Amino acid sequence: MTQNPESSALMQIRHVSKTFTKEPDIIARMFQKATGRNYETSVHAVDDVCLDILPGEVVGLAGESGCGKSTLGRITAGLLPPTSGQVLLNNETLCGQKTGKREHQGLQVQMIFQNPFASLNPRMRIRQIIGEAPLYHGIVTKKELDGYLDYLMAQCGLDPSYKHRFPHQFSGGQRQRIAICRALAVKPAFVVCDEMVSALDASIQAQIINLFNELKQELNLTSLFISHDMGIVEHISDRVVIMYLGRIVEAAGTQVLFNTPGHPYTRTLIDQVPRLDRRHFDFQPVAGEIPSPLSPPPGCHFHPRCSKRRSKCARHRPELRQISSGHWVACHLFD
Ligand code: SF4
Repeated sequence: MTQNPESSALMQIRHVSKTFTKEPDIIARMFQKATGRNYETSVHAVDDVCLDILPGEVVGLAGESGCGKSTLGRITAGLLPPTSGQVLLNNETLCGQKTGKREHQGLQVQMIFQNPFASLNPRMRIRQIIGEAPLYHGIVTKKELDGYLDYLMAQCGLDPSYKHRFPHQFSGGQRQRIAICRALAVKPAFVVCDEMVSALDASIQAQIINLFNELKQELNLTSLFISHDMGIVEHISDRVVIMYLGRIVEAAGTQVLFNTPGHPYTRTLIDQVPRLDRRHFDFQPVAGEIPSPLSPPPGCHFHPRCSKRRSKCARHRPELRQISSGHWVACHLFD
């Protein structure tokens, strides 16, 4: 999707795949020796994903649990190497480099994790949690650090006088603000938010989403926003990408995707979002369970659950094709 060697995109994900292989245990190894059969199991968590993200754009990545969105997020953040493919930031390779450049580019991409109770070191004070990286990497001097932290904390809606406290002295929402502060402290070019608000109460979720929207305007943030909640994705994203079992099945501008979804899976996901104008709507969950990624269905992975499937759906993988400007769908209905 929109792969161009001289792309103006800030982040380019090019044909990225990730396979996790489980080595056979001792009994399986004995059977393997005796029978000659291979007992290794592989999970194709991400399957040939291409995506360009423009400067200042927030791309929402949505799909059910287990569809590979968090794995793709970690690859994009440089925390996991892809099995194949490339991730480029500003047209330079982000993954796979072992030089000093990687460290520099590693700072350029920051990640905000789902659980603010686990992502902050409980033994460190907030001053150290937020200030350690900018100080170590020379973004600020020791003298400038306190002023810099006060500015950052105020920008993220935290009282700067709390910087000598420990994480356990804060609520969940405040901890997520600290995590956002820590990510922004190194002036990243790109931020990956992995289910950033899903561990929080609904009212706190709204506060963090509003904060993120304010920061997006103020700092012109470029971000990959991963969430299973279509309502949140609609509220936050400029463009939305839908994943199913490791593959992108649809991508479009937020309004286009929510008003005229093309893929049957996207339609069912959108139908589940509660809306005030559909008070008496009978919500139908997506039929069936997401298949095991250990043995995904052939052809279109969604065909066992799709009410519109045709005979070729079980045999041929549908390619992503552009059905209107900037609207891409992988479905045989558009062949
Ligand atoms: Fe349904 Fe076929 Fe489209 Fe897959 S390719 S979503 S099975 S119609």
